[in-house]
Amino acid sequence: MKRAASLVDADPELRQALVQEAEARGVPLPPEASTWPAKRLLRRARGRESASRERSNPVHRDESFRCVACGRAVPAHGRTARDHCPFCLCSVHVDVVPGDRAADCGGVLQPSWVEQRRGHWVIHYRCAACGAERTNRALLDGTPPDSWEAVVALASREAR
Ligand SMILES: [Zn+2]
Ligand SMILES: [Zn+2]
Repeated sequence: MKRAASLVDADPELRQALVQEAEARGVPLPPEASTWPAKRLLRRARGRESASRERSNPVHRDESFRCVACGRAVPAHGRTARDHCPFCLCSVHVDVVPGDRAADCGGVLQPSWVEQRRGHWVIHYRCAACGAERTNRALLDGTPPDSWEAVVALASREAR
C-alpha cells in the first residue's frame, strides 16, 4: 500500500483515474478528495471494497468463499470457522479480533511461518498491505483439509 500510495502521489493522472474508479463503483468521495494524500484515497477505496466483498472473504465464520489470493472456491469447513484458504493458506485482513470484521484493511494475509503449539499447527501471517501480524490454526481435517504440502513448505522455509 505504501508503494501504491507513492505511485499515486507522483502521478496526477493515476490519482484522477483512482477518483474516477471510486466514483464509478459508487464509493462516496467528498469533492476535496482529489487533494487528499494518496494513502487516504487508497484507504477509502479499500475500506469500501472490503465491505462489498464481505461474502467472498475468509472470516471467522464457517462460510464458503472464493480465495482472493488463489481464486479457488473454498467450501465451509463444517466443524469450525474456515478462516483461511486450505489450498494456498492465505487469509484476508478483515478482523481486529477474530470474527469482528472491524479491520478496515482488506489486504491479503500471507502465511510467513508455522509452528507447532500444543499439538496444533499454527500459521503465522503478515498482511501484505499493512504489515499486521496474525495467526490462524491450521485445519488438517475437513473437506478439503489445509494442504499438507503447503504447511510443510512453510515449515521448511523456516528451517532454511
Ligand atoms: Zn487460496
Ligand atoms: Zn492489513
